[in-house]
Amino acid sequence: MRIGSGYDVHKLAEGRDCIIGGVKIPYEKGLLGHSDADVLIHALMDALLGAAGLKDIGYYFPPEDDAYKGISSMILLKHVNSLLKERGLEAYNIDIMVISETPKLKPHIDTMKANLQSVLEIPLDRISIKATTNEMLGAIGRREGIAAQAVVSVYEGEV
Ligand code: MG
Repeated sequence: MRIGSGYDVHKLAEGRDCIIGGVKIPYEKGLLGHSDADVLIHALMDALLGAAGLKDIGYYFPPEDDAYKGISSMILLKHVNSLLKERGLEAYNIDIMVISETPKLKPHIDTMKANLQSVLEIPLDRISIKATTNEMLGAIGRREGIAAQAVVSVYEGEV
């Protein structure tokens, strides 16, 4: 069994869709970034890559590469999952914490989990997505951005 961790943060900006966990959340602002800036998926990908002993997402999907401009991070997650599969590795369980003052994520968590399940093909009870606020402290508390942390376990072959 291997363990990986990931972290990401993106600014909230006007004129952008707010996409978290592959869900477009109705909100007055969205996350700013080269891709769709899906902070949850980015943290998850770095955790999966870390567990596999690979490099970070900036290495595989360079922000200066126009191929990734505006791309859905769900597509990038599929690619990361295939990098693991090529090495005989599969995600076992994933645990994600999103730190966001607004928008509220609770109504969307089940859809996010279903999205992750569709790519990683692991049972829903091995996918945890949790949300917390930053108690109005700091940049996230001022609603300037959203952060996410992920921890995953990955196994080789049969459990
Ligand atoms: Mg990112």
